Amino acid sequence: MGEMAGRQWSSNAAQGMIDFINRSPSPWHAVSECKRRLVAAGFQELKEADRWEIQPKSKYFVTRNMSTIISFVVGGTYKPGNGFSIIGAHTDSPCLRVKPISKKKNAGYIQVGVEQYGGGNWLTWFDRDLKLAGRVMVKSQGKIQSRLVDINRPLLRVPHLAIHLQRDVNSKFSPNLESEILPVLATAVQEKLNPTEKIQSGPQTDKHHPALLSLIAKELQVEVEEITDMELCLADYQPSVLGGVYEEFVFAPRLDNLLNVYASLEAIISTCDNEIASEPCIRVASFFDHEEVGSASAQGASSSLQRFILERLSASSEDPEAYHRCIPQSFVISADQAHAVHPNYKSKHEENHSVEMHKGIVMKFNCKQRYATNAWTSTVLREVASLASVPLQEIVVRNDSTCGSTIGPLIATKLAIPTIDLGGPQLSMHSIREQCCTSSVAQAIALYESFYTNFPKIRAMVEVD
Ligand SMILES: [Zn+2]
Repeated sequence: MGEMAGRQWSSNAAQGMIDFINRSPSPWHAVSECKRRLVAAGFQELKEADRWEIQPKSKYFVTRNMSTIISFVVGGTYKPGNGFSIIGAHTDSPCLRVKPISKKKNAGYIQVGVEQYGGGNWLTWFDRDLKLAGRVMVKSQGKIQSRLVDINRPLLRVPHLAIHLQRDVNSKFSPNLESEILPVLATAVQEKLNPTEKIQSGPQTDKHHPALLSLIAKELQVEVEEITDMELCLADYQPSVLGGVYEEFVFAPRLDNLLNVYASLEAIISTCDNEIASEPCIRVASFFDHEEVGSASAQGASSSLQRFILERLSASSEDPEAYHRCIPQSFVISADQAHAVHPNYKSKHEENHSVEMHKGIVMKFNCKQRYATNAWTSTVLREVASLASVPLQEIVVRNDSTCGSTIGPLIATKLAIPTIDLGGPQLSMHSIREQCCTSSVAQAIALYESFYTNFPKIRAMVEVD
Protein backbone atom coordinates (compact mmCIF):
# COMPACT_ATOMS: atom_id res chain seq x y z
CA MET A 1 0.00 0.00 0.00
CA GLY A 2 1.33 3.50 -0.88
CA GLU A 3 1.93 6.08 1.81
CA MET A 4 -1.10 8.19 0.90
CA ALA A 5 -3.37 5.15 0.69
CA GLY A 6 -1.99 3.99 4.04
CA ARG A 7 -2.76 7.33 5.61
CA GLN A 8 -6.31 7.29 4.25
CA TRP A 9 -6.77 3.71 5.49
CA SER A 10 -5.65 4.71 9.01
CA SER A 11 -7.72 7.86 9.07
CA ASN A 12 -10.91 6.07 7.94
CA ALA A 13 -10.46 3.37 10.58
CA ALA A 14 -9.82 5.98 13.29
CA GLN A 15 -12.85 8.00 12.22
CA GLY A 16 -15.01 4.88 12.51
CA MET A 17 -13.72 4.28 16.02
CA ILE A 18 -14.27 7.92 17.01
CA ASP A 19 -17.92 7.58 16.03
CA PHE A 20 -18.19 4.35 18.06
CA ILE A 21 -16.58 5.91 21.17
CA ASN A 22 -18.78 9.00 20.98
CA ARG A 23 -21.83 6.71 21.02
CA SER A 24 -20.46 4.68 23.96
CA PRO A 25 -20.20 6.84 27.10
CA SER A 26 -20.87 3.85 29.41
CA PRO A 27 -20.43 0.03 29.20
CA TRP A 28 -24.17 -0.33 28.59
CA HIS A 29 -23.99 2.08 25.69
CA ALA A 30 -20.95 0.27 24.26
CA VAL A 31 -22.89 -3.02 24.33
CA SER A 32 -25.99 -1.44 22.85
CA GLU A 33 -23.89 0.06 20.03
CA CYS A 34 -22.27 -3.36 19.37
CA LYS A 35 -25.72 -4.94 19.34
CA ARG A 36 -27.04 -2.35 16.88
CA ARG A 37 -24.16 -3.00 14.49
CA LEU A 38 -24.41 -6.80 14.82
CA VAL A 39 -28.15 -6.77 14.11
CA ALA A 40 -27.53 -4.54 11.05
CA ALA A 41 -24.99 -7.12 9.84
CA GLY A 42 -27.51 -9.96 10.16
CA PHE A 43 -26.44 -11.48 13.51
CA GLN A 44 -29.34 -13.08 15.40
CA GLU A 45 -29.87 -12.44 19.09
CA LEU A 46 -29.95 -15.50 21.34
CA LYS A 47 -31.28 -15.54 24.90
CA GLU A 48 -29.31 -17.54 27.44
CA ALA A 49 -32.52 -19.02 28.85
CA ASP A 50 -33.74 -20.35 25.47
CA ARG A 51 -32.84 -23.61 23.74
CA TRP A 52 -30.23 -22.90 21.09
CA GLU A 53 -30.40 -24.54 17.65
CA ILE A 54 -27.12 -23.37 16.20
CA GLN A 55 -26.73 -23.70 12.42
CA PRO A 56 -23.49 -23.78 10.39
CA LYS A 57 -22.64 -20.61 8.44
CA SER A 58 -24.80 -18.58 10.84
CA LYS A 59 -24.05 -15.69 13.18
CA TYR A 60 -25.37 -14.92 16.63
CA PHE A 61 -24.89 -12.84 19.76
CA VAL A 62 -25.95 -12.98 23.38
CA THR A 63 -25.84 -10.24 26.04
CA ARG A 64 -25.54 -10.43 29.82
CA ASN A 65 -26.69 -7.52 32.00
CA MET A 66 -26.53 -5.47 28.78
CA SER A 67 -22.92 -4.66 29.74
CA THR A 68 -21.28 -7.85 28.37
CA ILE A 69 -21.83 -9.13 24.82
CA ILE A 70 -20.57 -12.28 23.14
CA SER A 71 -20.98 -12.62 19.37
CA PHE A 72 -20.01 -15.58 17.19
CA VAL A 73 -19.94 -16.86 13.63
CA VAL A 74 -20.32 -20.61 13.10
CA GLY A 75 -18.11 -22.09 10.38
CA GLY A 76 -19.67 -24.14 7.55
CA THR A 77 -17.77 -27.32 8.53
CA TYR A 78 -17.94 -26.78 12.29
CA LYS A 79 -18.74 -29.82 14.39
CA PRO A 80 -18.60 -30.21 18.19
CA GLY A 81 -14.99 -30.73 19.23
CA ASN A 82 -13.60 -28.21 16.75
CA GLY A 83 -11.86 -25.08 18.05
CA PHE A 84 -12.94 -21.54 18.84
CA SER A 85 -11.07 -18.46 17.58
CA ILE A 86 -11.78 -15.98 20.35
CA ILE A 87 -10.98 -12.28 20.75
CA GLY A 88 -11.74 -10.86 24.21
CA ALA A 89 -11.85 -7.20 25.23
CA HIS A 90 -13.59 -5.11 27.90
CA THR A 91 -16.45 -2.62 27.71
CA ASP A 92 -15.73 -0.66 30.92
CA SER A 93 -13.30 2.19 31.67
CA PRO A 94 -12.38 4.04 34.86
CA CYS A 95 -14.89 6.78 35.70
CA LEU A 96 -16.79 8.50 38.48
CA ARG A 97 -20.18 6.94 39.26
CA VAL A 98 -23.19 8.44 40.99
CA LYS A 99 -23.73 7.01 44.49
CA PRO A 100 -27.02 5.31 45.44
CA ILE A 101 -27.89 8.36 47.55
CA SER A 102 -26.19 11.27 45.81
CA LYS A 103 -27.93 14.39 47.13
CA LYS A 104 -25.42 16.76 48.81
CA LYS A 105 -25.51 20.44 49.76
CA ASN A 106 -22.35 22.41 50.60
CA ALA A 107 -21.80 26.15 51.01
CA GLY A 108 -24.75 27.05 48.79
CA TYR A 109 -23.89 24.50 46.09
CA ILE A 110 -25.86 21.41 45.11
CA GLN A 111 -23.41 18.54 44.65
CA VAL A 112 -23.60 14.91 43.55
CA GLY A 113 -21.98 12.15 45.62
CA VAL A 114 -19.75 9.90 43.48
CA GLU A 115 -17.70 6.72 43.79
CA GLN A 116 -14.51 6.02 41.87
CA TYR A 117 -14.84 3.11 39.42
CA GLY A 118 -11.50 1.49 38.50
CA GLY A 119 -7.98 2.85 38.73
CA GLY A 120 -8.54 6.23 37.12
CA ASN A 121 -6.09 9.12 37.02
CA TRP A 122 -8.57 11.23 39.01
CA LEU A 123 -6.50 14.41 38.75
CA THR A 124 -7.54 14.58 35.10
CA TRP A 125 -11.23 14.73 36.07
CA PHE A 126 -10.88 18.21 37.54
CA ASP A 127 -12.04 21.23 35.52
CA ARG A 128 -13.67 19.09 32.81
CA ASP A 129 -17.21 19.50 31.47
CA LEU A 130 -18.95 16.32 32.51
CA LYS A 131 -22.08 14.60 31.27
CA LEU A 132 -24.07 11.68 32.67
CA ALA A 133 -24.77 8.34 30.99
CA GLY A 134 -25.69 4.87 32.10
CA ARG A 135 -28.51 2.51 32.81
CA VAL A 136 -31.77 3.15 34.61
CA MET A 137 -34.15 0.46 35.86
CA VAL A 138 -37.75 1.39 35.19
CA LYS A 139 -40.88 -0.32 36.54
CA SER A 140 -43.87 0.50 34.43
CA GLN A 141 -47.15 -1.31 33.64
CA GLY A 142 -46.05 -4.49 35.39
CA LYS A 143 -42.68 -4.66 33.61
CA ILE A 144 -39.17 -4.01 34.93
CA GLN A 145 -36.78 -2.86 32.21
CA SER A 146 -33.19 -1.68 31.88
CA ARG A 147 -33.15 1.59 29.91
CA LEU A 148 -30.22 3.59 28.59
CA VAL A 149 -29.81 7.24 29.34
CA ASP A 150 -27.23 9.63 27.83
CA ILE A 151 -27.75 13.22 28.89
CA ASN A 152 -25.52 14.91 26.35
CA ARG A 153 -25.10 18.22 28.17
CA PRO A 154 -22.24 19.65 30.24
CA LEU A 155 -24.12 19.05 33.52
CA LEU A 156 -21.41 18.71 36.11
CA ARG A 157 -17.92 19.92 36.97
CA VAL A 158 -15.31 19.12 39.62
CA PRO A 159 -13.63 22.50 40.15
CA HIS A 160 -9.97 22.81 41.11
CA LEU A 161 -9.08 24.96 44.09
CA ALA A 162 -7.42 28.12 42.69
CA ILE A 163 -3.63 28.13 42.83
CA HIS A 164 -3.73 31.26 45.02
CA LEU A 165 -5.23 29.14 47.77
CA GLN A 166 -2.73 26.25 47.39
CA ARG A 167 0.61 27.56 46.15
CA ASP A 168 2.21 24.09 46.17
CA VAL A 169 -0.42 22.51 43.93
CA ASN A 170 2.06 21.93 41.08
CA SER A 171 4.40 19.93 43.31
CA LYS A 172 1.80 18.09 45.35
CA PHE A 173 -1.83 17.52 44.63
CA SER A 174 -3.59 14.62 46.22
CA PRO A 175 -7.27 15.30 46.63
CA ASN A 176 -9.27 13.42 49.24
CA LEU A 177 -11.30 10.98 47.14
CA GLU A 178 -14.37 11.27 49.36
CA SER A 179 -14.66 14.99 49.98
CA GLU A 180 -12.56 16.85 47.39
CA ILE A 181 -13.71 15.29 44.12
CA LEU A 182 -17.41 16.08 44.49
CA PRO A 183 -18.94 17.48 41.28
CA VAL A 184 -21.12 20.58 41.37
CA LEU A 185 -24.57 20.33 39.75
CA ALA A 186 -26.18 23.66 40.66
CA THR A 187 -26.50 26.36 43.29
CA ALA A 188 -29.16 26.56 45.97
CA VAL A 189 -30.03 30.04 44.67
CA GLN A 190 -31.05 28.70 41.26
CA GLU A 191 -32.77 25.74 42.84
CA LYS A 192 -35.06 28.17 44.68
CA LEU A 193 -35.77 30.13 41.48
CA ASN A 194 -36.52 26.94 39.50
CA PRO A 195 -38.67 24.78 41.74
CA THR A 196 -39.10 21.27 40.28
CA GLU A 197 -42.69 20.15 40.03
CA LYS A 198 -43.80 18.09 42.98
CA ILE A 199 -42.53 14.56 42.44
CA GLN A 200 -44.66 11.58 43.43
CA SER A 201 -42.94 9.50 46.05
CA GLY A 202 -41.03 6.56 44.48
CA PRO A 203 -38.01 4.35 45.23
CA GLN A 204 -35.50 7.04 44.19
CA THR A 205 -37.29 10.21 45.35
CA ASP A 206 -35.27 12.09 48.01
CA LYS A 207 -32.08 10.11 47.17
CA HIS A 208 -30.98 12.36 44.32
CA HIS A 209 -31.49 16.00 43.53
CA PRO A 210 -35.07 16.43 42.19
CA ALA A 211 -33.88 18.40 39.14
CA LEU A 212 -31.51 15.55 38.26
CA LEU A 213 -34.24 12.91 38.67
CA SER A 214 -36.67 14.98 36.59
CA LEU A 215 -34.09 15.37 33.85
CA ILE A 216 -33.49 11.60 33.69
CA ALA A 217 -37.22 10.84 33.77
CA LYS A 218 -37.88 13.37 31.00
CA GLU A 219 -35.09 11.92 28.86
CA LEU A 220 -36.60 8.42 29.27
CA GLN A 221 -40.19 9.65 29.00
CA VAL A 222 -41.13 7.96 32.26
CA GLU A 223 -42.33 9.25 35.62
CA VAL A 224 -39.75 9.78 38.37
CA GLU A 225 -41.59 7.35 40.63
CA GLU A 226 -41.15 4.61 37.98
CA ILE A 227 -37.36 4.73 38.37
CA THR A 228 -36.45 1.87 40.70
CA ASP A 229 -32.65 2.26 40.60
CA MET A 230 -29.83 3.38 38.33
CA GLU A 231 -26.11 3.12 37.56
CA LEU A 232 -24.84 6.39 36.12
CA CYS A 233 -21.32 7.14 34.87
CA LEU A 234 -19.86 10.61 34.59
CA ALA A 235 -18.19 11.06 31.22
CA ASP A 236 -16.26 13.76 29.42
CA TYR A 237 -18.64 15.96 27.43
CA GLN A 238 -15.93 16.78 24.84
CA PRO A 239 -16.23 14.42 21.87
CA SER A 240 -13.36 12.30 20.50
CA VAL A 241 -11.36 13.86 17.64
CA LEU A 242 -8.44 13.33 15.27
CA GLY A 243 -5.47 15.39 16.53
CA GLY A 244 -1.89 16.47 15.90
CA VAL A 245 -0.52 18.54 13.01
CA TYR A 246 -0.81 15.53 10.64
CA GLU A 247 -4.07 14.33 12.24
CA GLU A 248 -2.20 11.15 13.12
CA PHE A 249 -3.58 10.87 16.67
CA VAL A 250 -6.91 10.17 18.25
CA PHE A 251 -7.68 12.21 21.36
CA ALA A 252 -10.52 10.39 23.07
CA PRO A 253 -11.83 8.99 26.32
CA ARG A 254 -11.97 5.21 26.92
CA LEU A 255 -9.47 4.13 24.20
CA ASP A 256 -8.68 1.50 26.84
CA ASN A 257 -10.52 -0.52 25.83
CA LEU A 258 -13.09 0.63 23.28
CA LEU A 259 -10.36 0.65 20.61
CA ASN A 260 -10.17 -3.15 20.81
CA VAL A 261 -13.92 -3.60 21.21
CA TYR A 262 -14.41 -1.56 18.04
CA ALA A 263 -11.60 -3.25 16.09
CA SER A 264 -12.69 -6.80 16.91
CA LEU A 265 -16.36 -6.00 16.29
CA GLU A 266 -15.41 -4.59 12.87
CA ALA A 267 -13.32 -7.70 12.20
CA ILE A 268 -15.95 -10.30 13.14
CA ILE A 269 -18.53 -8.44 11.04
CA SER A 270 -16.33 -7.79 8.00
CA THR A 271 -15.08 -11.41 7.83
CA CYS A 272 -18.39 -13.11 8.54
CA ASP A 273 -18.64 -14.32 4.93
CA ASN A 274 -14.88 -14.86 4.34
CA GLU A 275 -14.22 -18.54 3.58
CA ILE A 276 -17.09 -19.33 5.93
CA ALA A 277 -18.28 -22.41 3.96
CA SER A 278 -14.98 -24.21 4.66
CA GLU A 279 -14.42 -22.70 8.14
CA PRO A 280 -14.06 -25.47 10.78
CA CYS A 281 -14.05 -23.14 13.85
CA ILE A 282 -16.49 -20.86 15.58
CA ARG A 283 -15.22 -17.26 15.55
CA VAL A 284 -16.02 -15.44 18.78
CA ALA A 285 -15.80 -11.81 19.93
CA SER A 286 -16.37 -11.47 23.70
CA PHE A 287 -16.63 -8.07 25.34
CA PHE A 288 -16.79 -8.20 29.13
CA ASP A 289 -17.75 -5.69 31.78
CA HIS A 290 -15.86 -5.11 35.05
CA GLU A 291 -12.24 -5.58 33.86
CA GLU A 292 -11.22 -2.33 35.54
CA VAL A 293 -12.40 -3.60 38.91
CA GLY A 294 -11.01 -7.13 38.69
CA SER A 295 -13.49 -9.00 36.42
CA ALA A 296 -15.17 -10.83 39.33
CA SER A 297 -18.90 -10.51 38.61
CA ALA A 298 -21.68 -12.48 36.92
CA GLN A 299 -20.77 -10.82 33.59
CA GLY A 300 -17.02 -10.34 34.10
CA ALA A 301 -14.26 -12.32 32.40
CA SER A 302 -13.73 -14.31 35.62
CA SER A 303 -17.33 -15.58 35.54
CA SER A 304 -18.35 -18.88 33.97
CA LEU A 305 -20.21 -17.09 31.17
CA GLN A 306 -17.65 -17.74 28.42
CA ARG A 307 -17.27 -21.38 29.48
CA PHE A 308 -21.08 -21.90 29.51
CA ILE A 309 -21.32 -20.59 25.95
CA LEU A 310 -18.44 -22.72 24.66
CA GLU A 311 -19.94 -25.77 26.38
CA ARG A 312 -23.33 -25.21 24.79
CA LEU A 313 -21.78 -24.73 21.35
CA SER A 314 -19.77 -27.94 21.61
CA ALA A 315 -22.45 -30.06 23.26
CA SER A 316 -22.96 -33.42 21.51
CA SER A 317 -24.79 -36.55 22.62
CA GLU A 318 -22.62 -38.77 20.35
CA ASP A 319 -19.39 -37.17 21.50
CA PRO A 320 -19.36 -36.56 25.27
CA GLU A 321 -15.71 -35.44 25.16
CA ALA A 322 -16.33 -32.79 22.48
CA TYR A 323 -15.98 -29.83 24.84
CA HIS A 324 -12.68 -31.06 26.22
CA ARG A 325 -11.32 -31.76 22.74
CA CYS A 326 -12.14 -28.24 21.57
CA ILE A 327 -10.01 -26.58 24.25
CA PRO A 328 -6.46 -27.23 22.95
CA GLN A 329 -7.60 -26.43 19.40
CA SER A 330 -8.92 -23.03 20.44
CA PHE A 331 -7.08 -19.74 20.87
CA VAL A 332 -7.78 -16.53 22.77
CA ILE A 333 -6.52 -13.07 21.84
CA SER A 334 -6.87 -10.90 24.93
CA ALA A 335 -6.98 -7.49 23.26
CA ASP A 336 -6.27 -4.56 25.55
CA GLN A 337 -4.26 -1.37 25.21
CA ALA A 338 -0.49 -1.07 25.89
CA HIS A 339 1.70 1.83 27.09
CA ALA A 340 3.55 3.58 24.26
CA VAL A 341 6.93 5.04 25.26
CA HIS A 342 6.40 8.50 26.78
CA PRO A 343 8.72 11.17 25.37
CA ASN A 344 9.02 12.96 28.73
CA TYR A 345 9.49 9.80 30.80
CA LYS A 346 11.63 7.57 28.60
CA SER A 347 13.38 6.07 31.64
CA LYS A 348 10.09 4.57 32.86
CA HIS A 349 10.21 2.14 29.92
CA GLU A 350 12.52 -0.86 29.49
CA GLU A 351 14.90 0.24 26.71
CA ASN A 352 14.70 -2.95 24.66
CA HIS A 353 10.92 -3.03 24.93
CA SER A 354 9.81 0.58 24.42
CA VAL A 355 6.93 0.53 21.98
CA GLU A 356 6.20 3.41 19.65
CA MET A 357 3.23 4.94 17.87
CA HIS A 358 2.73 3.73 14.26
CA LYS A 359 5.17 0.83 14.77
CA GLY A 360 2.51 -1.83 15.13
CA ILE A 361 0.37 -3.84 17.51
CA VAL A 362 2.05 -4.67 20.83
CA MET A 363 2.42 -8.22 22.17
CA LYS A 364 2.66 -8.11 25.98
CA PHE A 365 4.96 -10.47 27.84
CA ASN A 366 5.40 -11.14 31.56
CA CYS A 367 6.99 -14.39 32.74
CA LYS A 368 5.07 -14.11 36.03
CA GLN A 369 1.89 -14.46 33.92
CA ARG A 370 0.42 -11.00 34.47
CA TYR A 371 0.07 -11.42 30.68
CA ALA A 372 -0.80 -14.81 29.20
CA THR A 373 1.50 -14.66 26.13
CA ASN A 374 4.05 -17.44 25.65
CA ALA A 375 6.38 -18.37 22.82
CA TRP A 376 3.88 -20.60 21.04
CA THR A 377 0.97 -18.19 21.25
CA SER A 378 3.22 -15.35 20.05
CA THR A 379 4.40 -17.56 17.16
CA VAL A 380 0.82 -18.18 16.06
CA LEU A 381 0.22 -14.44 16.27
CA ARG A 382 3.31 -13.66 14.18
CA GLU A 383 1.89 -15.91 11.44
CA VAL A 384 -1.51 -14.17 11.70
CA ALA A 385 0.16 -10.74 11.50
CA SER A 386 2.45 -11.59 8.61
CA LEU A 387 -0.49 -12.76 6.48
CA ALA A 388 -2.02 -9.29 6.95
CA SER A 389 1.30 -7.36 6.78
CA VAL A 390 0.67 -5.93 10.25
CA PRO A 391 3.86 -4.99 12.13
CA LEU A 392 4.27 -6.21 15.71
CA GLN A 393 6.17 -4.88 18.73
CA GLU A 394 7.00 -6.52 22.07
CA ILE A 395 6.61 -5.01 25.52
CA VAL A 396 7.91 -6.07 28.92
CA VAL A 397 7.73 -3.72 31.90
CA ARG A 398 10.87 -2.82 33.84
CA ASN A 399 11.62 -5.12 36.77
CA ASP A 400 11.51 -2.10 39.10
CA SER A 401 8.05 -1.10 37.86
CA THR A 402 4.59 -2.43 38.63
CA CYS A 403 2.84 -4.35 35.85
CA GLY A 404 -0.80 -4.11 34.86
CA SER A 405 -2.85 -7.16 33.93
CA THR A 406 -5.76 -8.01 31.68
CA ILE A 407 -8.54 -10.52 31.18
CA GLY A 408 -5.93 -12.71 29.39
CA PRO A 409 -4.56 -14.63 32.41
CA LEU A 410 -8.07 -14.86 33.92
CA ILE A 411 -9.60 -16.43 30.79
CA ALA A 412 -6.55 -18.66 30.29
CA THR A 413 -6.94 -19.92 33.87
CA LYS A 414 -10.68 -20.40 33.64
CA LEU A 415 -10.80 -22.09 30.21
CA ALA A 416 -7.27 -23.56 29.85
CA ILE A 417 -7.15 -22.21 26.29
CA PRO A 418 -3.79 -20.98 24.89
CA THR A 419 -3.90 -17.18 25.08
CA ILE A 420 -1.97 -14.11 23.92
CA ASP A 421 -2.12 -10.59 25.34
CA LEU A 422 -1.80 -7.73 22.90
CA GLY A 423 -3.11 -4.25 22.10
CA GLY A 424 -2.44 -0.91 20.48
CA PRO A 425 0.19 1.56 21.81
CA GLN A 426 -1.28 4.58 23.61
CA LEU A 427 -0.48 7.40 26.03
CA SER A 428 -2.40 8.69 29.07
CA MET A 429 -3.99 5.34 29.90
CA HIS A 430 -6.79 5.75 32.49
CA SER A 431 -6.87 9.55 32.14
CA ILE A 432 -10.19 11.16 31.28
CA ARG A 433 -8.85 11.68 27.73
CA GLU A 434 -6.28 9.36 26.19
CA GLN A 435 -4.17 9.41 23.02
CA CYS A 436 -3.38 6.78 20.40
CA CYS A 437 -2.26 6.80 16.76
CA THR A 438 -4.66 6.33 13.85
CA SER A 439 -2.60 3.52 12.25
CA SER A 440 -3.01 1.29 15.32
CA VAL A 441 -6.79 1.24 14.79
CA ALA A 442 -6.43 0.11 11.16
CA GLN A 443 -3.72 -2.40 12.13
CA ALA A 444 -5.84 -3.86 14.93
CA ILE A 445 -8.78 -4.37 12.55
CA ALA A 446 -6.53 -6.00 9.91
CA LEU A 447 -4.87 -8.24 12.51
CA TYR A 448 -8.17 -9.45 13.95
CA GLU A 449 -9.60 -10.05 10.46
CA SER A 450 -6.55 -12.15 9.63
CA PHE A 451 -6.95 -14.09 12.90
CA TYR A 452 -10.59 -14.97 12.21
CA THR A 453 -9.84 -15.97 8.61
CA ASN A 454 -6.48 -17.75 9.01
CA PHE A 455 -6.36 -19.26 12.51
CA PRO A 456 -7.52 -22.80 11.54
CA LYS A 457 -4.79 -23.27 8.91
CA ILE A 458 -2.10 -21.79 11.18
CA ARG A 459 -3.23 -23.98 14.09
CA ALA A 460 -2.94 -27.03 11.83
CA MET A 461 0.79 -26.27 11.42
CA VAL A 462 1.52 -26.22 15.18
CA GLU A 463 2.98 -29.32 16.81
CA VAL A 464 3.44 -28.70 20.53
CA ASP A 465 1.58 -31.27 22.67
ZN1 LIG B 1 -7.87 -2.13 29.63
